[in-house]
Amino acid sequence: MSGLTRIIAIIVLYSVAIFFLLGLGYYRGIEVLAVLSIPVLLSSWFFGLLGGLLSGTASLLCSAPFVPSKMLPLLGVCYFAVGGGLGLWHRLKHPPTTKKTKAADHQFFKRSLNFAYVIDAEGQIIEGNDRATEVFGSPRRVWEFIHPDDQARFREELGRAALRGEAGPIKLRTISQRKEMIPVELKLVRLEQNRLARLALEMRDLSALAELENKVREAQARYRYLIEDAIDTLDTGILLLDKDQRVIWANRTLERFFDLDRDEMIGREVRRALWRAKQALAQPNDFEKITTGSAEPFIFTVQTNHAERILEYRSLPVATERYKGGRIDHFIDITEKKRLEQNLQEKTKRLEEKNHQLEEFTRVVSHDLKEPLRTISAFSQYLLEDYYDKLDDEGKDYLNRINRASLRMQNLIDDLLRLSRIGACHETLEKVYLSEVFEHIKEDMKARLENVDLRLPKTMPIIIANRTRMVELFGNLISNAIKYNDKPEKRIEIGWSQQGEFYRFYVRDNGIGIEEQYLDKIFELFERLNPRGDDYESTGAGLTICKRIVEEYGGRIWVESKVGEGSTFYFTLPNPRFSQKLSSNGTSTIREFEVSYAQQKT
Ligand code: ADP
Repeated sequence: MSGLTRIIAIIVLYSVAIFFLLGLGYYRGIEVLAVLSIPVLLSSWFFGLLGGLLSGTASLLCSAPFVPSKMLPLLGVCYFAVGGGLGLWHRLKHPPTTKKTKAADHQFFKRSLNFAYVIDAEGQIIEGNDRATEVFGSPRRVWEFIHPDDQARFREELGRAALRGEAGPIKLRTISQRKEMIPVELKLVRLEQNRLARLALEMRDLSALAELENKVREAQARYRYLIEDAIDTLDTGILLLDKDQRVIWANRTLERFFDLDRDEMIGREVRRALWRAKQALAQPNDFEKITTGSAEPFIFTVQTNHAERILEYRSLPVATERYKGGRIDHFIDITEKKRLEQNLQEKTKRLEEKNHQLEEFTRVVSHDLKEPLRTISAFSQYLLEDYYDKLDDEGKDYLNRINRASLRMQNLIDDLLRLSRIGACHETLEKVYLSEVFEHIKEDMKARLENVDLRLPKTMPIIIANRTRMVELFGNLISNAIKYNDKPEKRIEIGWSQQGEFYRFYVRDNGIGIEEQYLDKIFELFERLNPRGDDYESTGAGLTICKRIVEEYGGRIWVESKVGEGSTFYFTLPNPRFSQKLSSNGTSTIREFEVSYAQQKT
């Protein structure tokens, strides 16, 4: 209520009181006191001590016509007591601003870190603080620094503050004297009661906050683009759906796979978003599975104008809180993988056919070659036996040579056959106790091993292999160790050790040794270092067969040697504990192996 309204209210009250007293017709001090005390109370309430005293005087004057003059002093005391008392109480409750506090307030206003102005209801500036002057200079009106686009809003707030006493806080922009835009949060407070009163305008600088917000926004955008770009460059098509089956997001790869425009897809229900892709699907049923989110992965073919692709579909439910109930669909392009698989299948098939043909060829050739060889050998033998006396020495020598050559030829053919059989599909894998393999070899070579010091390890490992091949492998190496040894005391040592996923074996002799330049060559087919002579047993195929066997099991073979001192042949074979073959070929399992291995050791 403004001051004027209050004064009018008091005058009205006096008028009503006087009319009431006039209407009453009789006058007693108590009624007069009661009626005329009311405006005194109100005045002291509105205007404090001074108001109370002034109104007390007025009530005393108004009482004069209605009471005998001797009662006036008493009434005066009562009016002043009421007005003065209430006024005093009012002053104590709302002490007037002292000069000191006013000065402190002013200092506070001047030094405030915020921009502060005292303005009138029209936006005219009455006073500005230091900080405001520093940034906005000395404007005469607020319109000089409020951003043109925000002036209408400011005007509204100003009107509101003038009417209601305060307005804000609101955020708007200002322009500094350096023509920089400064975002602020402002508040308006009316300083006086009347409508045309002065207002305090306080503005908080939000530049630092806005800058921080901008930085955060930029960082967020950067990371979002980074992630989106990364997902866009994936080979996998990605479709993100919300719980209502609407497309939240799709990557570029998906666009490419189905010839779709992702901007058209986003926000649409998945069936509508993908409907154009339906014609591109080889099997129309696949559309149903893709749009409903098949739980099981499946493979389908899609044919667009640009390409035909084989895609693998996988759907995963989204677990995050924000998109709970939604799903992520992955479309993996497996066209190349499928093509390679098909190529591989075709190649394997062709290879199997070739292998089969080769086996057939070897079998036929060896059979057809062996037949005439046997005839040559038999008839040369007959000649030697039946016509021995009729032949001169030269003739006998020729016949002997024919005989030996045919036997050698037979050995060569046998070696070729053995070589061709290594790794044949029908070769079975089994648990091979190497200690038994050596028993077998010792029995086979009993005569040849008679004067040989053969040293075997105390225990031998069990491996998964073909038993016959193992006899052949160790047998060949032991046979060579005897054959290529000129020492009176022939010594052969066999040993083994663990080497990662393999066992490493060695066969060591104290024989003639091999020159360094031949260390690799001796593993080639029909390579022999010793002069051919009449030794038909030596064909140069033995080590080639050993190499084939070892490599068939994924191992490696090599030799270390010193001429005159002896040679050590090393080779590796897989330790079944690490071998995939072991459990997959059905002949044994790792568990079984471990049990039997432990049993053998105890
Ligand atoms: P072959 O014994 O039938 O000649 P191999 O392939 O078994 O054929 O051996 C190839 C060659 O390697 C042999 O001719 C021999 O010269 C050499 N060789 C093989 N084993 C030994 C060995 N333990 N010591 C010395 N030389 C060897």
